[in-house]
Amino acid sequence: MKIAVLPGDGIGTEIVAEAVKVLEVLDLNFEMESALVGGAAYEAHGHPLPEATLKLAKDSDAILFGAVGDWKYDKLDRPLRPEQAILGLRKNLGLFANFRPAICYEQLVDASSLKPELIAGLDILIIRELTGDIYFGQPRGRRTAVDGHFPGAEEAFDTMRYSRPEIERIARVAFEAARKRGKKVTSVDKANVLETFQFWKDVVIDVHKDYQDVELEHMYVDNAAMQLVKKPKAFDVIVTGNMFGDILSDEASMLTGSIGMLPSASLNSSNQGLYEPSHGSAPDIAGKGVANPLATILSAAMMLRFSLNQDESAKRIEAAVQKVLEQGLRTPDIYSEGTTKVGTSQMGDAVVKALSAQ
Ligand code: NAD
Repeated sequence: MKIAVLPGDGIGTEIVAEAVKVLEVLDLNFEMESALVGGAAYEAHGHPLPEATLKLAKDSDAILFGAVGDWKYDKLDRPLRPEQAILGLRKNLGLFANFRPAICYEQLVDASSLKPELIAGLDILIIRELTGDIYFGQPRGRRTAVDGHFPGAEEAFDTMRYSRPEIERIARVAFEAARKRGKKVTSVDKANVLETFQFWKDVVIDVHKDYQDVELEHMYVDNAAMQLVKKPKAFDVIVTGNMFGDILSDEASMLTGSIGMLPSASLNSSNQGLYEPSHGSAPDIAGKGVANPLATILSAAMMLRFSLNQDESAKRIEAAVQKVLEQGLRTPDIYSEGTTKVGTSQMGDAVVKALSAQ
């Protein structure tokens, strides 16, 4: 088994170092190889996703990714910006299914802005289609309007589109995932307004015929945004398109209080995957040793489960994270009175210690 380790920029290097520590203590038989990505790769090689990094990613069973980006790159041409590295990896590896669990740990119930009773025990999974929709649909661009409200004016446009196979494969991923959990899928669409999402709904209903043991409900995206803060525990698995998923998964992540706790996985059809925390490179706290490494450590656990077939080890890491939370250890983002404030590497060391003590 081979893991490509791509720390990236900002806090990426700090948090990935902690996840690597945790993986090393498991004593599993895998090889880890690091490479530059994002702004760091642009500085060294003039491109955010150099050929060598892409080759390493393609040749690996899984990619452990930190985060990329810094405001100082905002003026670069779009293809050279750090974030393009993630898009390039998704595209080249065909990573079409994004898993974003939102789990509320009992010990962190007060970190949420919602009432504890609304989120205590929350465990939902958002599955977002990652390679289609309006983010990638062609044509797109700027032009002079020939019709609309202001003919002759400058305008910009994008194209929302989904093909049947694209919807079928993400729907299957969602139904399969729900089978292993609460057996309920909420398909989020905007079928009342968008042709693309009426089609989405029709195809999801077709695929559901193969999964009659799983309950299927449909919800418009505006209602889903409301229900997520009103009654989040009513959801089990949410499946949706690229743009709605982008927005709803960030909303769901905030239900739990800290983005520093949330892992994510992006998988292709052969279970090769990219595993990264749900947050960005946090340039505001980079280099200070205060970033929360738990989202990345939990992403490593997802990697063991989904791409490397090591479910037992994944459970061990998750139990070790529970343990350090029970011990009252908190990085500043999840700190509350009466707990013990620790830095990035102390938190990583504590997880390693909890693992070794199991
Ligand atoms: P961000 O997620 O980096 O940070 C948002 C806020 O959350 C900041 O206040 C930050 O300090 C805090 N935060 C994030 N992760 C944390 C952690 N582990 N521990 C403690 N606090 C944490 O989002 P942003 O500030 O909007 O973006 C910063 C850069 O990251 C931008 O260049 C953006 O493009 C990039 N970005 C990258 C990814 C990615 O690599 N997948 C995702 C989102 C944003």
